[in-house]
Amino acid sequence: MIVILRENPDQQQLNHLTNWLKEQDISVHRTEGVHQTILGLVGDTSHVDIDRIRQMSIVESVKRVQEPFKNANRKFHPLDTEIRVGSALIGDGSLTVIAGPCSVESEEQIITIAESVKKSGAKLLRGGAFKPRTSPYAFQGLRDEGLKLLLEAKKVTGLPVVSEIMDLSHLDLFADVDVIQVGARNMQNFELLKQLGKSNKPILLKRGLANTYWELLMSAEYILASGNEKVILCERGIRTFETYVRNTLDITAIPALKTLSHLPVVIDPSHAAGVSTFVLPLSMAAVAAGADGLIIEVHNDPPHALCDGLQSLTMQEFDKTMNRLIPLKATCGKIY
Ligand code: PEP
Ligand code: MN
Repeated sequence: MIVILRENPDQQQLNHLTNWLKEQDISVHRTEGVHQTILGLVGDTSHVDIDRIRQMSIVESVKRVQEPFKNANRKFHPLDTEIRVGSALIGDGSLTVIAGPCSVESEEQIITIAESVKKSGAKLLRGGAFKPRTSPYAFQGLRDEGLKLLLEAKKVTGLPVVSEIMDLSHLDLFADVDVIQVGARNMQNFELLKQLGKSNKPILLKRGLANTYWELLMSAEYILASGNEKVILCERGIRTFETYVRNTLDITAIPALKTLSHLPVVIDPSHAAGVSTFVLPLSMAAVAAGADGLIIEVHNDPPHALCDGLQSLTMQEFDKTMNRLIPLKATCGKIY
């Protein structure tokens, strides 16, 4: 349920309303707009006397919210959520590019890539340490050692870092990681999501291979409902009947998620494309459709990469890509 208040509501009446709702086990989330204050009511509102709220002089209108995601819902929070990470503000209408290898492989590799992508304009460095691989015989990532090397690259370049968590027991290892990624395969690992909701770090939540927008937003809701408001949604391509590409990038996810939710939306063209030559066109489409950011795989030697070499851009290709994306973003401006 949402309660839209009249301009400059009487503070005493507002406290009275809030306390009365809290007594009924309803938590109240307040959002201040330019002209309006909105109260988002979370909990079982079925027994709340809606007419009693409507009759209050500070109340303009009351609406029931049908969607099961409350905290993630734009109706609860009309303004865009902006998430600060280092020098980037994700969700403010600008374009934040995250770049780096699929997996951290060595100190030299990660530092070389970090320095290069930084020069090209990336604001964050990505690097997998714990890798979700389809085959148990494939390279599983350098694990703890990979995170240490990633943090070394952070120290050298000053770039904040993004890395994927696969298991709750590893959470302590992520203490200095700036953004924790939840991979597509873990989008519905609800215990993991609940614990990440207790962290104060931004969470990059990837859409599952075959999950709907609602399911993605319900997963975001797990994190938000546990107290962490810093969720970044990520579309990375979904399974369709098409077999020519690794995944099908769902560009519609951008306007759809931006309509349903106030959370920032980042696109991963690399895992959608599966091949490096498709990364530029998909990135351009994402920027044109109003994505808040991109997460792009970049490697210093793609043919010898231990993971996802085929879809990784060389550092030179990434630089050229940025040179196309920056003016495109300037032309498109803020879309939503
Ligand atoms: C990755 O980012 O390297 C990754 C494994 O992504 P996804 O979960 O989207 O497959
Ligand atoms: Mn990858």
